[in-house]
Amino acid sequence: MTTCKAFHQESLDDPDAFWSREARRIDWHRPFVKTLDYSRPPFAKWFVGGQTNLCHNAVDRHAATRPDARALVFISSETDSEIVYSFAQLKREVMRMAAAMQSLGVVAGDRVLIYMPMIPEATFAMLACARIGAIHSVVFGGFASASLATRIDDATPKLIVSSDAGMRGGRAVTYKPLLDEAIVLARHKPAKVLMIDRGLVKFSPVKGRDVDYASLRERFIDAQVPVTWLPSEHPSYILYTSGTTGKPKGIVRDTGGYAVALAASMQYIFCGGEGETMFCTSDIGWVVGHSYIVYGPLIAGMCTIMYEGTPLRPDAGIWWQIVEKYKVSVMFSSPTAARVLKKHDTAFMHKHDLSTLKHLFLAGEPLDQPTHEWMTRELGLPVIDNYWQTETGWPILAAMPGVEKTEIRYGTPSFPVYGYDLKIFREDGTVCDADEKGIVAIVPPLPPGCLTTVWGDDERFVSTYFSLFREPLVYSSFDWGIRDKDGYHYILGRTDDVINVAGHRLGTREIEEAIQGHPAIAEVAVVGVADPLKGQMPMAFAVVKDAALIATPQKRDELEKAVLKQVDTSLGAIARPSRVHFLTVLPKTRSGKLLRRSIQALAEGRDPGDLTTIEDPAALEQLQQALARTPV
Ligand code: AMP
Repeated sequence: MTTCKAFHQESLDDPDAFWSREARRIDWHRPFVKTLDYSRPPFAKWFVGGQTNLCHNAVDRHAATRPDARALVFISSETDSEIVYSFAQLKREVMRMAAAMQSLGVVAGDRVLIYMPMIPEATFAMLACARIGAIHSVVFGGFASASLATRIDDATPKLIVSSDAGMRGGRAVTYKPLLDEAIVLARHKPAKVLMIDRGLVKFSPVKGRDVDYASLRERFIDAQVPVTWLPSEHPSYILYTSGTTGKPKGIVRDTGGYAVALAASMQYIFCGGEGETMFCTSDIGWVVGHSYIVYGPLIAGMCTIMYEGTPLRPDAGIWWQIVEKYKVSVMFSSPTAARVLKKHDTAFMHKHDLSTLKHLFLAGEPLDQPTHEWMTRELGLPVIDNYWQTETGWPILAAMPGVEKTEIRYGTPSFPVYGYDLKIFREDGTVCDADEKGIVAIVPPLPPGCLTTVWGDDERFVSTYFSLFREPLVYSSFDWGIRDKDGYHYILGRTDDVINVAGHRLGTREIEEAIQGHPAIAEVAVVGVADPLKGQMPMAFAVVKDAALIATPQKRDELEKAVLKQVDTSLGAIARPSRVHFLTVLPKTRSGKLLRRSIQALAEGRDPGDLTTIEDPAALEQLQQALARTPV
C-alpha cells in the first residue's frame, strides 16, 4: 500500500500516466488521444479527443448492469415523503425530462437555468441536460430576484426549470414570484419556463412562456432519448460564485475531466463504491451538491440521498434516522450543521444504529477544533475536514483514507490531494517555510475537474485567478494558509472581501450594492463578523442621506428593518446582515480607502490595529457607539 505523500508525488511527477490510469474508471465513447493539452497556459484541456457523457456514466451504465439497484432516494421531512428510484427508473425519468427539454427547443450547448428546491425533478433536470449536452446552471433557491436576474443575463438560458415552492421549517418558500420578477428585471428573456407544480403554492402561469411539466411528462412517458456523446472539454455546467466585485463569476466545468476527477475522489477520498449509499446534506445549488449529491455518488454506482428539510425536523435525530434506515456508509455535511447538532441532546444520535457509516466528511468553511473533537467523539468515527472551492469542484486538501489511513488532527484538513501542486506563497512570490503564513495557491495545470474558464470571459479567468504574481504563474485560492512541519495544512481565512456564512460564500460588495439600492442610504460598508454558529455573519455600517431619518431610536429601527428587507428581496435572506448600524461618516484613510479590517476588528471586539492613517478619528467613536446600541 502506498502513502498519501507518495501517491501525491506520483500524480505530480507523471500526470499523464496518473490521470490516464484514473480515466479508465469511466466509459468513453471515443478514447482520448492526449491526456493533457497545456499548450495555452493557464488553460488546461484534459482527455483531448475523447468523447463521453456524464449522464451515461452516472445513470445508463449502471441501469444496464444493475437496473433494480437503488440510485436515488428522495426524502422530505417537510412534506413527509420518501421516494426510491432504481437506476432503471432514474434513467426513465431523466429521458422524460430530456424529451421535454428537447420539445422546448433545447439542443447541445444551450443553457438551461435550474432554480429549484430539493426535489427529484431538480436532479432529473441536471442529468437530462448532461444527457443532451445542454449546459445547466443551477441557482441556489435562497437567492432572490436581483441575484437571479444577474445570472440569467450572464448565462442567457433558453429554458428555465423551476417550481412553485420549496419547504423549510414547516413553511413554504415560494420560488415562482421571485423568478417572475427576475425575468422582468433581466435583459435576457428566456423563451420558456418549465414548471414543476408541487401543489404547495398557487401561481398563475405566464401565457405562452410557462409550460407545465406534468403534462409534458405524460406525453413523453415512454421517451427514448439516446445520450449525446460530447467532447471531453464540452462545458457541463456553469455555477456562479461570489468574488470581490459585485458581479458573480460563472465557473465553467468540463465533461470528461469532471467525470474522472469525481470517480477517483469517490474511491481515494470518500471510500464509497457500488451498492453503497451516500448522504450529502448540501443543496444542489452549491458545488458540494453538484459533485456529491448528484454526479459523484451516481458515477460510482452508489445510491444518493436527496434531502429536503432541516437537521432538526421533526427532531435532531432525523439525519441519523436516515443513516440507519438506508445504511449510509458515506456522509457529507458542513461545520455549521455540525454546530447546530452539537446544541442538541446526543441521545438523538445514539439511539440510532450508525454502524454502516465509515466516515463523516465536513467542508465549506473552517471546522473549529471543539466541533471537530465533539463530532469525532460522539460518532466514534473519523470526521474528515476537507477544503475546496466552487472553482475546483472536488477537494484540494483532505485526508485520503482510500489511499492511506493517516492520523486525523483537529483543526486541519490534512494534506494536498493528488493532482494539486499546492504551495503556500509569500506576497513576494517566494514559497513559505513550514509554519509560515502565506497565500494558498496551486501551481498549474489545474487537475481534471477544476474550472476551465469563467463563462464567456477567458480574460477574467486569467486576471482573477492567475494574477497573484507576474512570476510564477499560480492559481490563487484567495485563502491564507499555513503548512506545519508534518505537512498538515491549516486554512486561516480569506485574503479578499469574501465572507463565508454557514459555508455559503458571499461577496460583501454584492450586499453593499443591494443596500445602496435603498433610497435613504448614501454609503455603506459590509464586513464579515465572527459568529459562533454560522462561522461569519455580514454586518452593515451605513451612512444615511438625511440624518432626520435616524433622529429617534424608533426611526432608526424602522430604517434598519427596511434595509434588511431590501437585502432579502434583492439578494435573498441568506445575505441578510445581522445588523445595520447607522453613522454619519465611515472610517476611511486620508486617501479615501475604507478601513475594513479595523471595522471588522471593532465589530468582533478586537484591537482595530494601526489607525494613524485615519481621516476622521470621530468616525471610530461613532462606530463604537453604534455597536454598543441594541435595537429597541
Ligand atoms: P465555496 O466556493 O462557496 O465552496 O467557498 C470556498 C471557500 O470556503 C474557500 O475558499 C475557503 O475560504 C472556505 N472553505 C471551504 N472549505 C473549507 C475548509 N474545510 N476549511 C476552511 N475553509 C474552507
